[in-house]
Order: sequence, then structure tokens, then C-alpha cells
Amino acid sequence: MNHCHDIEALISGYIDQELSQQKAQRVRLHIESCDKCRNVYQDLLAIRKEMGQLQYPECEEAKQERIMNEPVSKMLGIVGWVLLIIGLIGFMGWQAFTFYTQPAVPTWAKIGVLLIELAVLGLFLSVLRQRLIARKTDKYRNVKL
Ligand SMILES: [Zn+2]
Repeated sequence: MNHCHDIEALISGYIDQELSQQKAQRVRLHIESCDKCRNVYQDLLAIRKEMGQLQYPECEEAKQERIMNEPVSKMLGIVGWVLLIIGLIGFMGWQAFTFYTQPAVPTWAKIGVLLIELAVLGLFLSVLRQRLIARKTDKYRNVKL
């Protein structure tokens, strides 16, 4: 069952090509058979075209890449990562002297918390590593140009 109300909510995403294939199919089939929603779709499409806001996925990607390569946000990103890792390591160090030395806390709980923290730290480091590798290839690309 396709209610017009549900479809109308999806039309904007349909125009921006942000919907999953399944949802896009649902919208497409519905606006083919429903005059009211087709009108909404065509009105919205006309407005988007007029405002030059018709976005395609590749444009969106390029925009995102530009934002990510913008110096200030790049620097803030690095500062954020450094602070996050320093904070996490500091927290774990503090815990080593408080939480882990508590006789009241059972050993299995200490091991559990430690494993979770190591997992989080490992994930952070792996993402950070990917970021650094991506940055290196970025530089390489820039040199080649
Ligand atoms: Zn409809």
C-alpha cells in the first residue's frame, strides 16, 4: 500500500537520488499512477532546476571531498583525533591506578572493561591509519598533477 502522504515525503529524496533502489522504485511506480503525487514531483523538480540545486551523487561526492580537504577542517580533524587518543590513553592510565586496583571489582569485570577499551582504541587507530594513508595518496595525487 502506498499512501500519498508517505510518497510525498520521499519525493525530495527521489529527486536528489538519495533513496535506496527499492524506495526509488516505489516512488517511481506511484507517481506514474497518481496524478496528485506526479504534480508534486514535477513542481518540486521545476523548483530545483530553477534554483540550480539539482544534485547528482558525483557532485555531492566532490563537494564532500573539497570540504574534507579544506585546511581548517583538516587541521581540526587532526587535532580532534589527537585529543581523542590522548584522552582515551589518559583515561586508561587513570583507570590503571583506580579501577583496576580496586579489590571490590571482580577480575572478570576488569578484564571485560580492558578488552572493550583495547577494542575501541584499536578501532580508532585503524581508522586513523586509513585516514593517514588516504592523505598520503592525496599528496601523491597533488604532486602528479
Ligand atoms: Zn499519490
